[in-house]
Amino acid sequence: MENGNNAAASPEEVRRSPAFGWAARDTSGVLSPFTFSRRKNGENDVTIKILYCGICHSDLHSVKNEWQNSVYPIVPGHEIVGVVTEVGGKVDRFKVGDHAGVGCMVNSCRSCHECAGHHENHCPGMILTYNSTDVDGTVTYGGYSDSVVVEEHFAVRFPAGMPVDRGAPLLCAGITVYSPMKRFGFDVPGKHIGVVGLGGLGHVAVKFGKAFGAKVTVISTSPSKRQEAVERLGADAFLVSKDPDEMKAAWRLGEPWTA
Ligand SMILES: [Zn+2]
Ligand SMILES: [Zn+2]
Repeated sequence: MENGNNAAASPEEVRRSPAFGWAARDTSGVLSPFTFSRRKNGENDVTIKILYCGICHSDLHSVKNEWQNSVYPIVPGHEIVGVVTEVGGKVDRFKVGDHAGVGCMVNSCRSCHECAGHHENHCPGMILTYNSTDVDGTVTYGGYSDSVVVEEHFAVRFPAGMPVDRGAPLLCAGITVYSPMKRFGFDVPGKHIGVVGLGGLGHVAVKFGKAFGAKVTVISTSPSKRQEAVERLGADAFLVSKDPDEMKAAWRLGEPWTA
């Protein structure tokens, strides 16, 4: 201020917008309110008001520093879905009001061999959605928050009609299983797919497999998962991996073991 009674905002603060999230501050697993800032929307950016964010097991590892790389405070969340509230002048895939998502990464070098081949997730300069250093040197904070600013290239369009809450897990768990199924040709009818473990990824794999027209056999250590696999998710068969007779019979038959 002119009279010097109030400190002027620094240039850094001027370029940033206030944000609110839930942060872990130590390994206790407890998250608490956290006020921070996001960069202002740039010409290639979209700003998303976050409506939902999935909980991935990676978030839990990060909160508790189980990978020994967490820098506190850490705001987890990389299955982000919301509504676009601002777009930069060079953005052409989004408009205000669209539903958009952000997965586990928010930027990459955009010039290396991997980036050129659309494998940004293998880029040595990949910037993760949280617990990573952004291009401006600030720390990235994830989707357990009210907003996110991301380059258009790393935002995902949500089709009209897709439920934003139930669609959120597709942004990490979903793409993790969809990508190899697509890449290795399991996206056509007539295949027989085995899904080992009916967890966060496994249950999505069953649903993709059935949607692709495959026979799906779930292989699990827990007989208690049988009902969910077969009746709720539509798996064609279920094998208990701890049951040697069942495994041996399935091996011999080479056909889906009947539920
Ligand atoms: Zn994840
Ligand atoms: Zn790159």
